[in-house]
Amino acid sequence: MSDTLIIGAGVIGLMLARALAIKGQRVTLLDRQSFGRASSWAGGGIVSPLYPWRYQDAVTQLASWSQGQYPKLSRELREQTGVDPEFDQQGLLLLDINDESEALSWSARYERELTRVDSQRLCELEPQLQGSNRNGLWMPEVGSIRNPRLLQALIRWVRQSSRVTSLENSGEIRLRVHKGKIEGVGSANYGKLSAGKVVVAAGAWSGPILNSVGVDLPVVPVRGQMLLYKAQPGLIKRITLVGNRYVIPRRDGRILVGSSLEYEGYNAYPTIEQRYSLERTAQEIIPALADYPVEKHWAGLRPGSSQGVPFIGEVTNTKGLYVSAGHFRNGLVLAPASTHLLACQITGERCDLDPMPYCVP
Ligand SMILES: Cc1cc2nc3c(=O)[nH]c(=O)nc-3n(C[C@H](O)[C@H](O)[C@H](O)COP(=O)(O)OP(=O)(O)OC[C@H]3O[C@@H](n4cnc5c(N)ncnc54)[C@H](O)[C@@H]3O)c2cc1C
Repeated sequence: MSDTLIIGAGVIGLMLARALAIKGQRVTLLDRQSFGRASSWAGGGIVSPLYPWRYQDAVTQLASWSQGQYPKLSRELREQTGVDPEFDQQGLLLLDINDESEALSWSARYERELTRVDSQRLCELEPQLQGSNRNGLWMPEVGSIRNPRLLQALIRWVRQSSRVTSLENSGEIRLRVHKGKIEGVGSANYGKLSAGKVVVAAGAWSGPILNSVGVDLPVVPVRGQMLLYKAQPGLIKRITLVGNRYVIPRRDGRILVGSSLEYEGYNAYPTIEQRYSLERTAQEIIPALADYPVEKHWAGLRPGSSQGVPFIGEVTNTKGLYVSAGHFRNGLVLAPASTHLLACQITGERCDLDPMPYCVP
């Protein structure tokens, strides 16, 4: 019997399994498909909320803690698994901002480096940018992680660990509850699995799982579509954000362009309209992209929550049943802090993060 069984092996489930195993727990990690294939694979990997000053303090608390961890986490995973998650601190350029004074006072309050840049400085920072007459903001501390590689490294880590049992392709699952206490999970393909604690970390699908025990979790699927250009290394150097669209350079020259924000239920198919729209805005931001092929176009379902504040903690009506879901647009950046907080709650340790803003219904 495991101490803790985690349902869902996206970035949240995988990082939580690692955090608990490091604390000495025996963990079962279960997914209905292969590990690391859903939203966490589909995302862009920017290690910052897009306009961080527009979020509540609850999101900033987790984002700031995580940002401090990513360089070390990426290095450790590379050393322990041989897979480099490619954390790079390229800096983030934000163009055409209309709430600059809010941004500047947020950066002063949280001591984050954020400065105004004129068109000349913009050009120095990113020569490929379109438009000579633009101003922007520059956040040099922001980086990105190559999320499919981060997942590969985490999957390898949990498979190497003698404390983690990995169960993929579980088939249908159901929570097993007796007299208000969790007993484990029933799985079509693995049968009866017992655990002292169970965590629902099933991203956009967490709501229906919890519904079966009378918990109404307000987390909904929000589709996001991405494009991948195959360009040459060094064509662009910075992450650049304009409106809801951004470009992210990878080390090998590939450039990610995102993203859409669509409420279409559990439909994770990409559409031709969004492909054209993303191509158009990509080439408006970086005209040179017109010379390079689009290698891939895909969609993923974010676990959407109100204001992007995730639910982290034990549910009120079932002892031993926990949730970590609703990280919305920021699951990759929030994951280290979010899973650190929940791991402390599960093991009963004191935590340096305030749990209150993330209370579960
Ligand atoms: C286009 C796009 C761009 C994004 N860009 C960024 C970004 O730049 N930075 C950032 O921080 N975040 C970004 N995100 C958001 C981020 O990807 C998500 O917040 C994060 O991946 C959520 O992780 P998760 O582990 O909760 O969910 P998921 O990765 O979706 O994992 C959930 C897992 O649960 C499993 N599951 C579901 N139902 C069941 C069941 N019944 N039984 C067993 N297993 C089940 C699924 O198979 C899946 O493996 C982006 C998302 C998208 C779609």
